[in-house]
Amino acid sequence: MTENKARKKAIRERMAKTGEPYSVARRRLAEQATESAPERTPVPLQDDLADPTGEDIAAYARLLLERLRTRRPEAARPDCRHPWEFTRAIDAAMAAGLDLVDQVTAGNVGPQAVKRATHLAEQVQTAQRATVNALNFNMVHDVAAAYLLVRGTRAVQQGRCLLGQAAPTDCSPDPGRVRLRIHDAFGHEDTDSGCLQHAAEEWTRWDHGGEVTLEAIGPATLAAAVAELGEQLRAERTRADDTSTGTVTLYGTDLGDSIEDQDLINNGLWNREGTYGQPDAALCEEENWDYVAVMNAWCAHAAAQLARDGIVWDRNTDKVTLPATLPVSEAALTWQRVLDGFDAWITRVVDEVRDGVGRAEPDDIRPDDAPGARWITYSTA
Ligand SMILES: [Zn+2]
Repeated sequence: MTENKARKKAIRERMAKTGEPYSVARRRLAEQATESAPERTPVPLQDDLADPTGEDIAAYARLLLERLRTRRPEAARPDCRHPWEFTRAIDAAMAAGLDLVDQVTAGNVGPQAVKRATHLAEQVQTAQRATVNALNFNMVHDVAAAYLLVRGTRAVQQGRCLLGQAAPTDCSPDPGRVRLRIHDAFGHEDTDSGCLQHAAEEWTRWDHGGEVTLEAIGPATLAAAVAELGEQLRAERTRADDTSTGTVTLYGTDLGDSIEDQDLINNGLWNREGTYGQPDAALCEEENWDYVAVMNAWCAHAAAQLARDGIVWDRNTDKVTLPATLPVSEAALTWQRVLDGFDAWITRVVDEVRDGVGRAEPDDIRPDDAPGARWITYSTA
């Protein structure tokens, strides 16, 4: 999903810049990418990590590390616009990856391992941001592979199928695995592979009518069962809306854009962070954003804002419960108002971090009690 999404974003950006239609922009980008940088074999995606074990995670992390090592000299390419940031991020990603391999091979696949994998992925994304044109386009795959590693690590930690890594429910006992194919106006994308239960849950998440259609890919009987269970879950959800419990339950996606949106956090921080070493810098050189802390705080803030209007949002399931007296259209307005408050909220986060820059020690790391310390981590590079 991530890879396709990032590619589409690059394609849409080119469309906006050049006015080319979608198909032309996609072809030109792909041509540029292969002309200027013949790609080495990419790190495989999805299929090789269907039901990951700790060994799979370690092996996959090693592949990704190997890949990042070959990326390092690309700092010298013209497509690398910020070589220093690029190298720094690649090194930080590799340090996190080595740490992850150590933990996983020692049998520790816990929250710390997930955190290391997340840090790795964020740094790969930071490295990609330091590039333009073909190198940027090619690194989309690295970013996708890194986020697959995050999902895989969490799946091992939770003891679940890959698709169900973030779900609050257990896997179905059936060992069969399917993935969903989501068709939209631009073509189709496949989800991670997962069990019957989690594929059906994913089905309800996408099935909002309109231009999206769904297909289950896998053994025929299982694919049919997923479609059936998906429809059943959806019907239950609709029924829950008309019961006289005094509340209406729906999903955040029914009310508007996602509140738990990593792009929102990433772009919000990156657009404001300033330049390392310059007076406008929010971070010191050895510091990184603690994306997990920022996301957790943002979600808690959003949930609290929603609660003031009687709207209960469960971040884990993205389920939203409304008092039956509150029209869905009004809840959607509240939802949008909370999202509109994001800019002001994240500005306060960055301002606090900026306030603490002057308190950094000679090793360029602020003390724990300095302003902004709760929003940052330290580079392990
Ligand atoms: Zn599952």
